[in-house]
Amino acid sequence: MQRVALIGQPLRRRHSEIMHNAAFPHFGIDARYELREIEPHRIPPFVAEVRDADWLGFQVTAPYKQVVMEHLDSVAPDALGIGAVNSVVRTGEGALVGFNTDAPGFRRAVEAELDVDLAACQVAVAGAGGAARAVVQALLSAGTRSITVGNRTLERADALASDFGAPVHAVALGPDFDSVLCTTDLAVNATTLGMIEQRAAFNARLLPDGAAVYDLVYEPPESALLREARERGLRTANGLGMLVAQAEIAFERWTGVTGAGGVMEKALRADMRHQISETGSP
Ligand code: NAP
Repeated sequence: MQRVALIGQPLRRRHSEIMHNAAFPHFGIDARYELREIEPHRIPPFVAEVRDADWLGFQVTAPYKQVVMEHLDSVAPDALGIGAVNSVVRTGEGALVGFNTDAPGFRRAVEAELDVDLAACQVAVAGAGGAARAVVQALLSAGTRSITVGNRTLERADALASDFGAPVHAVALGPDFDSVLCTTDLAVNATTLGMIEQRAAFNARLLPDGAAVYDLVYEPPESALLREARERGLRTANGLGMLVAQAEIAFERWTGVTGAGGVMEKALRADMRHQISETGSP
C-alpha cells in the first residue's frame, strides 16, 4: 500500500483525509492518507521517511508551510512566489518537489462556479495572509490586470504588493478598500472574518450590478458577506469548491488521475452532515 500524510501542529480538520481516502479506493488505487501531528524537530526524519518508494508525497499545514521548503529538492515557482508549500510529490526518481495547490484550486473553483474571465476582471481581495497570497498568485497567473489588496494591517498588504509587484496595489480595509468596490468585477474574502467572527470584511452592497463575490470561508456555508451579496443580487460562491479543487490537484500530481473532485466533494459533504448531526458544527 502506498502512503500520503498531512503534517502540521495542531491538526484540527480531517477534510483532506476524508477526501483523499474516498478517492483512492474509488479509483482502485491502493493508497492511504494519514494525519501526522508532529513537533518541529520531527520534520527532518519525516521527510527522510517520505523518500521511501512506498510514499506518493505529503501535505503540509500550519505552521510548517515555509519551513518545509528547506528540506525539499525543489519548489515550484508559484509556491516560491506565494512563500508557502502545502503539497509535495515524490517523483519516480525519488526527488521531493514542493508545490502549492491553493492558487490553482482557487482559480479552478472561481472559474467553474462564478463563470468569470479573470483576465478581464478588476479584482479586490480582502486579506493579506497565506490564503490571500495564493489568491493573488492565481489572479496573476490568469492575467488579471487590476488587483487591489485590502488588509486590516496595512503593512502586511504593502509587503504583499511589494513582493508581487504591479498590478497589485495595497490599501487598508475600510474606506480606502470600499472606494474601489464600485469598479470591482470580482471581490474575494481571504480574511478569517465570517468563520468565527460573524461579520463581513467589506460591504457587498457597494459592488456594481453584475459583480461576483468569492468567500474562501466555507463554514458556515453562507457567511454574512455572501448573504449580503446574494441579497444584493450578485453571484456568490463559498470556499468549499476551492477546498475540493486543491485536493483534486494534489491527487492529480500524486496519481495521474484527473477528475476526482466529484467523489471528494460527495465524501466531504457527507462527513460535514455527519459532524453537524453529532456535534452541531462541521
Ligand atoms: P492568515 O494567514 O492567518 O491570515 C488571516 C487574514 O485575516 C489576515 O489578512 C488578517 O489580517 C485577517 N483578519 C483576521 N482577523 C481579522 C479581523 N478581525 N478583521 C479584519 N481582518 C482580519 O490565514 P489564511 O491562511 O490566509 O486564511 C484566511 C482564510 O482563508 C481562513 O478563513 C481560511 O480558513 C481560509 N482558507 C480557505 C481555503 C479554501 O480552500 N477554501 C484555503 C486556504 C484558506 P491582519 O493581517 O490584519 O491580521
